[in-house]
Amino acid sequence: MAKKITKKSAAKSKPKAAGKSSKYVYFFGSGKADGNGSQKALLGGKGANLHEMTRIGLPVPPGFTVTTELCTYYYDNKKSYPKVLAEQVNTALAKLEAATGKKFGDREDPLLVSVRSGARESMPGMMDTILNLGLNDETVEVLAAKSGNPRWAYDCYRRFVQMYGDVVMGVQKVGRDDHEPFDEVMDELKHKVGVTEDTDLTADHLKELVSRFNDLIKKRTGKAFPQKPIDQLWGAMGAVFGSWMNDRAIVYRRKYHIPHEWGTAVNVQTMVFGNLGDTSATGVAFTRDPASGEKVFYGEYLINAQGEDVVAGTRTPQPIAKLAQDMPKAHAELVQVCKTLETRFKDMQDFEFTIEDNKLYMLQTRNGKRTGLAAIRIAVEMVEEKVIDWKEAVGRVPADSLTQVLAPIFDRKDRDDAVKNGRLLCKGLPAGPGAASGHVVFNAEDAVERAGKGERVLLCRVETSPEDLRGMIAAEGILTARGGVSSHAALVARQMGKICVCGAQEIVVDYGARVMKVAGRTIKEGDFISIDGTLGEVYEGELKTAPSEVVQVLVAKTLDGKTSRTYQQFDKLMKWCDKIRRLGIRTNADQPDQAANAIAFGAAGIGLCRTEHMFFEGDRIYAMREMIIAETKEAREEALRKLLPLQRDDFAGIFRAMKGYPVTIRTLDPPLHEFLPQTEEAQRETAAQLGITTEKIAARVAALHEANPMLGHRGCRLGITYPEITEMQTRAILEAAIQVRKEGIPVKPEIMIVLIGFPKELQNQLEIVHRTAKQVMAEKKTKIGYMVGTMIEIPRGALCADEIAKDAEFFSFGTNDLTQTTLGMSRDDSGTFLPHYQELEIVKRNPFEAIDQDGVGQLMKIGIEKGRKTRPDIKLGICGEHGGEPSSVEFCHRVGLTYVSCSPFRVPVARLAAAQAVLKEEKAGKSREIS
Ligand code: ADP
Ligand code: MG
Ligand code: MG
Repeated sequence: MAKKITKKSAAKSKPKAAGKSSKYVYFFGSGKADGNGSQKALLGGKGANLHEMTRIGLPVPPGFTVTTELCTYYYDNKKSYPKVLAEQVNTALAKLEAATGKKFGDREDPLLVSVRSGARESMPGMMDTILNLGLNDETVEVLAAKSGNPRWAYDCYRRFVQMYGDVVMGVQKVGRDDHEPFDEVMDELKHKVGVTEDTDLTADHLKELVSRFNDLIKKRTGKAFPQKPIDQLWGAMGAVFGSWMNDRAIVYRRKYHIPHEWGTAVNVQTMVFGNLGDTSATGVAFTRDPASGEKVFYGEYLINAQGEDVVAGTRTPQPIAKLAQDMPKAHAELVQVCKTLETRFKDMQDFEFTIEDNKLYMLQTRNGKRTGLAAIRIAVEMVEEKVIDWKEAVGRVPADSLTQVLAPIFDRKDRDDAVKNGRLLCKGLPAGPGAASGHVVFNAEDAVERAGKGERVLLCRVETSPEDLRGMIAAEGILTARGGVSSHAALVARQMGKICVCGAQEIVVDYGARVMKVAGRTIKEGDFISIDGTLGEVYEGELKTAPSEVVQVLVAKTLDGKTSRTYQQFDKLMKWCDKIRRLGIRTNADQPDQAANAIAFGAAGIGLCRTEHMFFEGDRIYAMREMIIAETKEAREEALRKLLPLQRDDFAGIFRAMKGYPVTIRTLDPPLHEFLPQTEEAQRETAAQLGITTEKIAARVAALHEANPMLGHRGCRLGITYPEITEMQTRAILEAAIQVRKEGIPVKPEIMIVLIGFPKELQNQLEIVHRTAKQVMAEKKTKIGYMVGTMIEIPRGALCADEIAKDAEFFSFGTNDLTQTTLGMSRDDSGTFLPHYQELEIVKRNPFEAIDQDGVGQLMKIGIEKGRKTRPDIKLGICGEHGGEPSSVEFCHRVGLTYVSCSPFRVPVARLAAAQAVLKEEKAGKSREIS
């Protein structure tokens, strides 16, 4: 596993092992590179691909990479560097100077570089990049004179001072509505000289700006901006390594489960300039559309700008198609680059380029982040194009992203009505498909606050930046006024599967007044709006939602699958999954319609049918209450007789829907008090219904009160103290089975006894089940097959699984309760401390979301091993919520379960995750063969 590799490499870079021979610096340039694309762990993603692009002959400005091992060393050794580093950096620098013919701080031809971070997995916007390093009061003059373009030279210089002051010297904004200090200084100057655009500032203005920036730095930090390039370089490198542990990087890693031990690399690279005038530009592009997945050259650029302008969304860039007119040669070259990149990397690429005076340079490439919709389309189409094989395609689609394809869209008619009624406010770029409605908020803090109170919010910003990440996570959707498809907002939306419309230029946001103006209307904080991230539209108020295309085809059956490409591709992918997965997929469903949906999504059985939900419906609750309040066995049986036909009908409905697939039915589980009315008024009402006194009910409620219901009188404990409940349920199940089979539909009932810790508990219940079954069969003069098994959900059950398996024909791991009882942690009460645990990394993931493999997983393994010892062919499943979570599904595959069971809408996710578990296993097997 990835984590293990990390540990190993981290150990390697411990000071002891880091002798003089350790190579920390890797050079690339002039068609040759020390590293290559496979070295992402060592060189970071950006670094490895810069080396690879150099190797395949793409025009990459030369530079060098300082490895992630150095970062690990840095944090393992109180933020210090190994001795050999300085020498290795100096050697690389000399090589760089030789390759470019430029020199650091030179009075004739000064070398300028960028200092760029780059972790193993791209962490967009997390780490700060510094451009134009090497400029100082002297070299800027050299550049100005040499280029005959002093405006450009000073523009580079002011950008550098600004970035360095921000990232390295820490001159940053404070508080929530405050402006960036450097922007403020710039705005002041613009105001003073009477211009609105940055590009209208002259060389002298920019010179003045640099001086004001210097004053700002001095004032805020008490230190002067460093003039010596080599000092600048060390300062910048230190800041990159330092930024690995900054707050937003940590937040991001937590969200994406990236280990903190990985570390980042630093890339030092010769500058090229997209801001040299109208023959220069900079841009970001994709070899396919990352939102829809369509195979078109996609992206955007800005003329006369430096890279971060496009990404930051400060100016809205031009669509890449327009470059064909502006710079036809560069455009043609880029189209060729797309082919070269996809041929080499065999995946959709997201790349950064700069055109300096009509000459194209490549600055970065990586596998592009994409929406769930795009992930499926690209994977399936690349198989059709014979770029990858179908197994590769299965591995390409993140299992969780399938939920996006199943998420609702806006109802067409409601949307058309909204447009007719003038509620369409404006259009922007469709950056994250799907439909979202919510209250408008204008900053991340408010988003987090309101979402914490359970409100749905839409985060509306002029543009987003990494500081907004928490708010973006909390919001239903994101709307920005500026920035294109490669802006931060779009990037994050793609990655998180957030619904997003960006660059809706007609919107004017006023943070101070907490309003935005659009289409002649003023939308205030807290107002309700809706955004369609598939169409890029923004509406006033709330719109009705409708099921996604896939759901319309499979569940609602309102759409013909043949007419929906999305469905076709989804279906193809699912069929590939079914070719390789070994885990069976079942569903947790309590009602026939849920069961039918799950079958449509590909489930082959019910792994958990909870019977108690059936007792809440309509008037049934009164029969249930009558049973609970009954004082004698006879009275209880009388009440159960009323429940029997209702349960039988429910089970019959489910058996019919499941068409012969196995159905695991759980006997009554929750403590009885859950069924009783708690408020006085409800008690009065029930008393009237049952014809008894309110006092009697109140007394029963009091008697059933438990200090710790989760560990109280529930599960099989109920069936043991009230055997007639188990009797009734068994009867209902088997009578239903016999009835449905008579209708010509095969049935496979599996009765599951819950909360077993002692083998004798199970024996007690089994006696009742078998006795009742015999009776039913005798009465109906027919035989029916059924299985009886148990849920393993308390540690004692797992530990004594060998004994329990003597009687249980199957086990289903109830990992919700197993997690609660193993951790001694109530899920419902964990909200007050678990988030903090995650922050402190006491737990890596929420154990109620992803199986705690080391703890709970170990108990499962014990249960499996012991269960199989007694009963080698025992059927093993899982029915906790974990059954639809990809890492848990993989775990279940590894430990050899027969099936996983999850909620209907997670079934496709589980199918894909189960297939990916096989792929991972195959890959591991292959690498074992090689080593
Ligand atoms: P990120 O990790 O946020 O993608 P990058 O390291 O890619 O940051 O740098 C941000 C921007 O700076 C990029 O868009 C890139 O185009 C620009 N940039 C980085 N290095 C150079 C360089 N050597 N010459 C010109 N532009 C550069
Ligand atoms: Mg980049
Ligand atoms: Mg349970």
